[in-house]
Amino acid sequence: MNNQVIKVVKFGGSSLADAGQFQKVADIIKRDEARKFVVPSAPGKRFSGDTKVTDMLYGCYGIAEMGGEFLSMFEQIKERYREIICGLSLDYSLEDEFDTIQTNFIEKAGRDYAASRGEYLNGLILARYLGYDFIDPAKVIVFDENGRFNPEKTNEILSKELKKHETAVVPGFFGATESGRVVTFSRGGSDITGSIVARAAEATIYENWTDVSGFLMADPRVVENPKPIKTITYRELRELSYMGATVLHEDAIFPVRIAGIPINIRNTNAPEDAGTMIVPFAEAESGSIITGIAGRKGFCVIAIEKEMMNAELGFGRRVLQVLEDNGLSFEHLPSGVDTMCVVVNGKELEGKKDQVVNGICRAVEPESIAIHEGVALLAVVGRGMRNAKGTAAKIFRAITDASVNIRMIDQGSSELNIIIGVQEEDFEKAQRAIYAAFVK
Ligand code: ADP
Ligand code: ASP
Ligand code: MG
Repeated sequence: MNNQVIKVVKFGGSSLADAGQFQKVADIIKRDEARKFVVPSAPGKRFSGDTKVTDMLYGCYGIAEMGGEFLSMFEQIKERYREIICGLSLDYSLEDEFDTIQTNFIEKAGRDYAASRGEYLNGLILARYLGYDFIDPAKVIVFDENGRFNPEKTNEILSKELKKHETAVVPGFFGATESGRVVTFSRGGSDITGSIVARAAEATIYENWTDVSGFLMADPRVVENPKPIKTITYRELRELSYMGATVLHEDAIFPVRIAGIPINIRNTNAPEDAGTMIVPFAEAESGSIITGIAGRKGFCVIAIEKEMMNAELGFGRRVLQVLEDNGLSFEHLPSGVDTMCVVVNGKELEGKKDQVVNGICRAVEPESIAIHEGVALLAVVGRGMRNAKGTAAKIFRAITDASVNIRMIDQGSSELNIIIGVQEEDFEKAQRAIYAAFVK
C-alpha cells in the first residue's frame, strides 16, 4: 500500500486545444503537488466548427495510405502544434518528430499509429512545459497481437515504470503490442488510459478534467441546463455512458473499479466547481429517485408473439440462436407471457432482416413477427429506484402526457435502470418529459 497522496489527472481535447488552455491546465496541476501523473488527449476543438487533431490525422493518413498528396494536410497539423509551442513561449521544437511521422506515413505505419500521434506530440509539449518526465505509452500500455488490451501485463509494467518517476506525462489513447505495433483504444479512449495510470500509480483519486462541470443529469444538447450529478456509482455511470452520455468512455470504469479508486469529473474552465464524484458504492441521496437519463438512437425492435410461448421449452434459446447464426448480439430482451422483444443495433441488422425473420419463423413458428425500425432507447438510471414505488408508472405518465408512444419498456433486474423504447423522432421530447417529471 501507498500512503502518499497521488492524483492522476487526465485532460480532454478541449482542455488542451490551444496555448491558452495549456496554461489553465498547468495552473491546475501546479496548484496541487499530489497531481503527479498527467494523461493528455490530442488538441480538440478550439471553437465550434473546428476540427480535432485526431480527425485531421485520420484524414491525412487516409490520403497517405492511398498514395495521395497528404503533405498540405500534414502541414495544418504541424501548425496546430507550432502555435501551441509558440503561444507558450517554449524553446522547443517538434520538427524532428514531424519528419519521423511523415516518413512513417509514407511507409504506411497504420491508422492507429497515425491517430496516436495526436496525443504523443501533445504529451511531449505538456511534459516540457510542466518540467515533468515523458513516458511513451508504446512501452507501458500493452496490447496483444490481436489488438486486445492486456490489463494485467500493463499494470505490472506500468506500475514499475511509474515508481521511477517523481512526476510524469503519459499520453492517452494508445499503447503497443510487444512487437511494437501501435494500437489505439476506441474514440475517446484517453479516459481509459487515465484510469489505467490511476490503477498502476495506486492513486487516491483519478481526476478527469473536461469542459463541463461534471456529469449532468441529462444530455445538455437535449435538456436545457440539466443539473449536475454530485455523486454517482460506477454501475450507474456505466449504464449512462453505455447509453450515450459520452462524458467518460464507457470502458474507463474497469481499471479503477479493480482498485476502488474514485473518479472526479472536473471542468478545466471552472476549476472551482466540485464536479461529479464517481464512487464504488453510495447511498441514494435523500429524495432523489433518479440519478440521470441518457439515450441513443439507431435501434430495431423485433417483436415476436405466440400464445403460451412461456410454456414452450427452449423458445428464447431458439430465437437467440437465429440471431447468433446471423452474427447479431442483442441489447435488451423484454418479454411477457405471449410476447418477446429483441432489441438489436439497427446498423448490424441492415441487410439481414429477411434472413432473421425467416429464421425465427422456422425456429419457433410465431403467430406474428414484426420489425420496428428507427427506435431510440432511453435509460433512466438511479440507485434510488430500488426504494421508490411507482417509478415506471411515473415515467409512463410523463411520456404519455407528452403524446409520445412507448414501443417497449424494460426494467433491469438490478432495479437500477428502466429502459424505454420510443420512435427516434420522439427521442428529445421523451427525454425532456422524463427529466421534468423527476427533477424539480
Ligand atoms: P473531453 O474532450 O474532455 O474528453 P468529451 O467531449 O469527450 O470531453 O465529453 C464532454 C462532453 O460530453 C460535454 O461537452 C457534453 O457535450 C457531453 N455530454 C453528453 N452527455 C452529457 C452528460 N450527461 N453530462 C455532461 N456532459 C455530457
Ligand atoms: N483523441 C482521441 C479522440 O479524439 C482520444 C480522446 O480524446 O480521448 O478520440
Ligand atoms: Mg472524451
